[in-house]
Amino acid sequence: MRPDILFSIFAPVTGLPGVGPKIGKLIEKLAGPGIVDLLWHLPSGLIDRRYAPKVMDATEGAIATLTVTVDKHSPSARRGLPYRIRCRDETGFLTLVFFNGREEYLRKQLPEGEVRVVSGRLERYRDEFQVTHPDHIGTVAEIEAIKTVEPVYPMTAGLTPKPLNRAIRAAVGMAPALPEWNDGPWMAQKKWTGWHTALQTAHTPQSETDLLPDAPARERLAYDELLANQLALLIVRGRQRKRTGRSVTGDGGLRRRLEENLPFKLTGSQQMALAEISADMKSNTRMLRLLQGDVGSGKTIVALMSMLAAVEHGAQAALMAPTEILARQHFATIEPLAEAIGVSVVLITGRDKGKKREALVDRLITGETAIAIGTHALFQDDVQFKDLAFVVVDEQHRFGVHQRLALAEKGAAADILVMTATPIPRTLMMTAYGDLETSRLTDKPAGRKPIETRVLPLSRLEDVVDRLRGAIPAGARIYWVCPLVDDSEVVDLAAATERHAALAQRFGDRVGLVHGRLKAAEKDAVMTKFAAGDLDILVATTVIEVGVDVREATVMVIEQAERFGLAQLHQLRGRVGRGEAKSSCLLLYGEPLTATARARLKVMRDTDDGFVIAEEDLRLRGAGEVLGTRQSGLPQFRIADLAAHAELIAVARDDARVILERDPELTSERGKALKTLLYLFERDAVVKTALSG
Ligand code: ADP
Ligand code: MG
Repeated sequence: MRPDILFSIFAPVTGLPGVGPKIGKLIEKLAGPGIVDLLWHLPSGLIDRRYAPKVMDATEGAIATLTVTVDKHSPSARRGLPYRIRCRDETGFLTLVFFNGREEYLRKQLPEGEVRVVSGRLERYRDEFQVTHPDHIGTVAEIEAIKTVEPVYPMTAGLTPKPLNRAIRAAVGMAPALPEWNDGPWMAQKKWTGWHTALQTAHTPQSETDLLPDAPARERLAYDELLANQLALLIVRGRQRKRTGRSVTGDGGLRRRLEENLPFKLTGSQQMALAEISADMKSNTRMLRLLQGDVGSGKTIVALMSMLAAVEHGAQAALMAPTEILARQHFATIEPLAEAIGVSVVLITGRDKGKKREALVDRLITGETAIAIGTHALFQDDVQFKDLAFVVVDEQHRFGVHQRLALAEKGAAADILVMTATPIPRTLMMTAYGDLETSRLTDKPAGRKPIETRVLPLSRLEDVVDRLRGAIPAGARIYWVCPLVDDSEVVDLAAATERHAALAQRFGDRVGLVHGRLKAAEKDAVMTKFAAGDLDILVATTVIEVGVDVREATVMVIEQAERFGLAQLHQLRGRVGRGEAKSSCLLLYGEPLTATARARLKVMRDTDDGFVIAEEDLRLRGAGEVLGTRQSGLPQFRIADLAAHAELIAVARDDARVILERDPELTSERGKALKTLLYLFERDAVVKTALSG
């Protein structure tokens, strides 16, 4: 149950005075549906109205609050001319200007002969001061309410500042004082106030520095949010650990034989990852581990070796890939290696239907086959295993472990290894997974050649084409990636089709096209031709189609590279440089290029380290965009800024850990306050399902 104390702020915004259905809709679009959402809608700027000079002394262009006597109304003589009101103080004249001003209203607001306070931007017209449409008009008694620093909030079309400011002021006014959930000494060290004061302070900035992410009030609110997040993650993970797993131990026989058959030696970080994984499998708790490594760092072998541990134990293992093509690719890599040591593998995708599928599934039910590779088709109800002990989920560049865990339910207490090629900055890792165990493949397999990266304007396209013409006879095989335009597959496809046609004119029928609208079999056919060397150039729309290992590919051209995330560019670049020949990556950009876009492309040119690239991307773009906002599966923060508050995340994690060690059910005084915090940031589900009270 949500604590009563939060009741008032968890009401809809339309419960606020002056917020009807129309403004309510706009506010909902801007900030969210609840009053609490308005609390998190913090100012992005401020207007200082404390400047209150005499008219003569006023600075042109400044925002000023002036006390004047109203002299004379001059309603507009005809349409299009303004309504003017002449005012004065003892030093000079001030004209107030209104377009389409209603006389009745203006005479009521500004009666001739009376003293009024007006606030707005001072302009000079001929040799007189004027204010067009003052922001505020009031009586002398109201001057203190006008002569303030006013917060400026991010807006949305259709909403004006006045009703929004009023609504937020009312929301903040309704916010209750809440019991303190933060540690006293930590608060003292940071010079933070209590939540309620911090909230009020954050909404009433007095200077530009109050708007910065490290202003104490903002920092405290951000910390609260991060603490709620870390606490929720740890509680859920703690739950998971308590569900007992099984101890899986193999004798190492299959793994040894596989290793002997490999034409290469495992790298140090591959061996380290394998040791970590088998320790997890051996332990009695359920394993959930992330295997991170750049494209080409050799995750597949690690996955296969780990699966073999389960097979040695007499159980089964499954590997799930995000797309059909990738599932086939994994099968093509793994099956011969496994067969050579007498381990059978099946491939199950959405394409297999009827009798054929039944036969495949049957081999899993009887236990005749030890390893299943597939797409999410492995989820489906008809797929059953005799004894599934280990599941590998290959996320590739997608990210979102949460939805995929369902597969593990098919095996009693199956261990899970999630593979991702997305180098996730540490700060993001922590916010998404808390203390999820991670193995990282940091050293590249021996023999990888560095890739030469060049950044060129699109206007140099012809030069690029000429260069390719020279390279093809020497055996170059080329990926040509067209940009995602507004996420719209239609425009996207048009651009790629056009490029394909243009290149086909130059290079004839040795140019292929692959895109998301093709049927799986058609895609495969094109890919196969490219892999076999029957095509020299492969034009592709989306990232996923090039998730395939073609060792002979040596050139990657990316059009309008500035539209891609750095992580994506890094993934794409990793598709070349896999074989013996020297590879290059050409990043073509559209002009003009913004400063940030230029800096981002420079990062790509300067480094090949996926983790450095990810950190830079986070710094340059902010967290929201690093992994593609919505689909990323990362939590969205309201106040915390993952780039600006990075070190707070680590503190919040440690804090959450200590809290739960001492008070796992959150029953102490502080524990109860922390439950309120979890509700405040809408981590209710955790409190309801994972805590007993
Ligand atoms: P990832 O899945 O991380 O993108 P892969 O597992 O597909 O990378 O490996 C890329 C290539 O490197 C494969 O051809 C694989 O056989 C090879 N490879 C893997 N480990 C090593 C190693 N230790 N030494 C040399 N080559 C390796
Ligand atoms: Mg792979």
